[in-house]
Amino acid sequence: MPMRDVEPDPETESTYECFGCGTVVVATAPRRCPDCGADMRNRATPIE
Ligand SMILES: [Zn+2]
Repeated sequence: MPMRDVEPDPETESTYECFGCGTVVVATAPRRCPDCGADMRNRATPIE
């Protein structure tokens, strides 16, 4: 069985932080904060 290449996987859980209330969620790809509905950002992505 061949090894899979290591590459970004959209199914991999990451840590996301809410822009609005700061709630941290570990999920595959949350679109909205479960608490306040604001946008989430991936903590692994550096802020410019
Ligand atoms: Zn929130």
